[in-house]
Amino acid sequence: MFMIELIICESKIYLGKGMIIMRLQKYMALCGAASRRKAEEYIRAGRVTVNSSVVRDMGIIIEDKDVVTLDGKVLKPEKEKVYILLNKPQGYISTANEQFGRPSVLDLVGEINERIYPVGRLDYDTSGLMILTNDGDFTNKITHPSNKIVKIYEAKLRQIPTKEEIYAFKNGLKIDDYITSKANFEIVRTEDSFSIAQITIHEGRNRQVRKMCEAIGHPVLGLKRVQIGSILINGLSEGKWRYLNKSEVSSLLK
Ligand code: URA
Repeated sequence: MFMIELIICESKIYLGKGMIIMRLQKYMALCGAASRRKAEEYIRAGRVTVNSSVVRDMGIIIEDKDVVTLDGKVLKPEKEKVYILLNKPQGYISTANEQFGRPSVLDLVGEINERIYPVGRLDYDTSGLMILTNDGDFTNKITHPSNKIVKIYEAKLRQIPTKEEIYAFKNGLKIDDYITSKANFEIVRTEDSFSIAQITIHEGRNRQVRKMCEAIGHPVLGLKRVQIGSILINGLSEGKWRYLNKSEVSSLLK
């Protein structure tokens, strides 16, 4: 810890790779311990120590090597959260661990420094939208079935389903040992030997869309996820990715 008057006192300053110096209250906010204003209250109340000494001075600057505590608990800076939207091509696996040397979606976002991983899965043969992040809380919320995040797929199916088959699809099918919850199914286009359907589900079980289509007698010939929550695939070419912005992230968490 040391005292200096910095003109750029409100911003964080990096000195080389990973090195940080910044004001104590900003450091506490970065650690997720309090807002900067609350941090000032805690400092004034003598609840904060730096390298084992209680500090009450707002001018203190923290460096990497300093140990800061609040009420005896050591504070550590939170990692920067990263949220990526990827348009996965067919022929990529969507898990972080691959034993068979197949390309992974992580290869497509190779230049990201953070340790990100896919939120949920898409099959090797499925293309379309995936989210990758390093935020565990976000992943839990998005994948938890109770949150019922809408996922929309475009599916190419063998032959053309009848009205009765579509009714069954929408109202629940027995798959493995569970009954699917309500889903939506719209035929978008038909040809002699196949049809294109838009399918909306709120669950995310393993190979669910393929199994549901199989269950009504119309196996999937091609599958693409075109929407997650309010986020659409439009404008994102296959194999490309972009960061989600703050409002997109919060719309998914709503
Ligand atoms: N349902 C499937 O069957 N496969 C996917 O990849 C996603 C949903």
